[in-house]
Amino acid sequence: MEPRCGIMKQNKKLGQCFLKDKNIVKKAVDAADINKNDIVLEIGLGKGILTKELAKNAKKVYVIELDRRLEPFAEEVIAEHLNVDVIWNDALKVNLNELNFNKIVANLPYQISSPITFKFLKMDFDVAVLMYQYEFAKRMVAKEGTKEYGRLSVAVQYYANVEFICKVPPSAFSPKPKVDSAIVKITKKEPNELFHLEDEEFFENVVRALFQHKNKTVKKALINSSHEINLNRDELKDILNNLNNLKFNLNERVFKLNIKKIAELSNLLYELK
Ligand code: SAM
Repeated sequence: MEPRCGIMKQNKKLGQCFLKDKNIVKKAVDAADINKNDIVLEIGLGKGILTKELAKNAKKVYVIELDRRLEPFAEEVIAEHLNVDVIWNDALKVNLNELNFNKIVANLPYQISSPITFKFLKMDFDVAVLMYQYEFAKRMVAKEGTKEYGRLSVAVQYYANVEFICKVPPSAFSPKPKVDSAIVKITKKEPNELFHLEDEEFFENVVRALFQHKNKTVKKALINSSHEINLNRDELKDILNNLNNLKFNLNERVFKLNIKKIAELSNLLYELK
């Protein structure tokens, strides 16, 4: 029987759509290939449906949960599984480096999808299997030349290989969200797989500048967003003339540039500025 916690109203602001479809839970755990050597990080306990499945298969599970009203569910999980540690905090504020996990599996609260994903990408881990809103997931895995390709695709795929596992309908959750969801598998790239960057922060600024105008040419996008890379327009025009001489095609549309090309552009701009 489910533990009772008063008349708990699920909080939409905390993304509290809990999984109820056990096949989807299994799909996520299988995609992460959880075994008894794994230390897993989960964000958002909810009623513990995913936590229990992880605990059965892993050596240890850390689950971070913000909403203390879910304590009765935490107690039930801990009573059944001694290898679960619940951390009552905001996942965005926890120093994740202090938890030595190697895998991440979570049905994410969608309002923190973007910041928590970027937090993960700066860390070392083997694999992350995460549930996102469908549209967000499509943007994460999008390739150059498609309409979903954007800043998120480049920022994620620079650091990781991403695989779309499956679409998940609203009926898999309670209460039903208004939108579809999807499971994505993220595998961090090895250092030798990453394109060389002269400066990581500058690359991130160039990506932001470019994708503010993703349908424009590279030249127009950079000129329109020169402030993002801390250059005034005249300085930038000189640099772009030099780039032209180096045969970098400035007339290409931004959304057609692959990550290698963007890294090359960022490095050239960094050297010429
Ligand atoms: N894992 C459960 C499941 O699959 O049913 C719950 C998933 S539910 C989509 C997201 C959970 O994250 C909720 O329990 C919510 O309270 C919690 N949450 C929301 N924001 C959070 C934050 N910033 N840090 C930690 N947990 C958070």
